[in-house]
Amino acid sequence: MTWKRSLPILALILIAAVLFLRPGERPFEERRAFLMGTAVLVRAQADEAVLDETMALLRDLDRSLSAHSESSEIGRANGKSGTEVSLSPRTARLLERALLWAERTGGAFDPTLRPLTRLWLGDGLEHEPPSPEAVAEALRHVGWSRVRLDGKKLLLEPAMGLDLGGIAKGYGADEAVSLLRHKGVSSALVDLGGNIVVIGERPGGGPWRIGIQDPRKPRGERLGIVEVRDRSVVSSGNYERFLLWQGERYGHIVDPATGFPARSDLEGVTVLSESSLDGDALATALFVLGRERALALTEDLERDGYAFILVGADRRIDLSPSLTGLFRLEAEEYRLETGR
Ligand code: ADP
Ligand code: MG
Repeated sequence: MTWKRSLPILALILIAAVLFLRPGERPFEERRAFLMGTAVLVRAQADEAVLDETMALLRDLDRSLSAHSESSEIGRANGKSGTEVSLSPRTARLLERALLWAERTGGAFDPTLRPLTRLWLGDGLEHEPPSPEAVAEALRHVGWSRVRLDGKKLLLEPAMGLDLGGIAKGYGADEAVSLLRHKGVSSALVDLGGNIVVIGERPGGGPWRIGIQDPRKPRGERLGIVEVRDRSVVSSGNYERFLLWQGERYGHIVDPATGFPARSDLEGVTVLSESSLDGDALATALFVLGRERALALTEDLERDGYAFILVGADRRIDLSPSLTGLFRLEAEEYRLETGR
């Protein structure tokens, strides 16, 4: 190509570069906190006041939803099992959605695991795992189908208890994003410990690139990247939080069928969805179900726009067909399976 003929192209590149810079564009603000037992990050092209309001909303949710605190709304409801209590409209709606997912996942996701999760997680410190007898006794008081929820009126059987920890972060991310959108924000990323929701495109334009953690590597080392716009990306696994006792890892995701930490042939599950609440419930459930039963469920959900990255212990990754071209595998130990 001659110098003269390439001039228009050079001019185009220059224009593109100027557009890319977008002078006068509002800068991204950032807030970090530790809420809902996890690291929270909000990055948004928004005023400081909008970010502060978003963080206040998340703090408020944390206070009302924590199963560990006796003074939270959930804690108080658990303390009154056996008698009818009145929930706030927000918590009642959340529980309703949780029960829906419990039904849809055949109970692999169960919001009534509190009697068990308090045994397995205890005070959050390293401690001896509970005895099989204690687990069996706690399991008698678990079962989503025994929850009586009528509008805002909740009745739990005596000794039953709610734990919405498997859905709270996703719900929080959804609420934060809906507040940001309401304030007119058109580019943002909300990350509640692996529950990520993005609005629009990343700073400078183009899809947001979300790294998928390699379950076998230290935190921050990813196995690949997925590109998203206006979507939630939730990752679940037992690699982040677990109880360690005498060299044995006890993961924080409990199998409601056994009462023990789920022994899954999946090491990591990522769900892409519109709602992060849905993604959160599903990621936990698919992990519990394991590959075969997870794949039976995902096929249906893919028709509704959900997409999945299932990382197996055998290093096989099952990828939803819709993610071809959006997910880029980087770790060479893994192989992709898309032929479904
Ligand atoms: P991850 O961060 O790996 O996605 P989550 O925090 O979403 O995990 O879910 C784990 C939390 O959910 C646990 O700490 C516990 O409070 C609760 N939980 C554990 N097992 C289940 C289950 N099978 N169904 C519903 N909630 C669960
Ligand atoms: Mg979850």
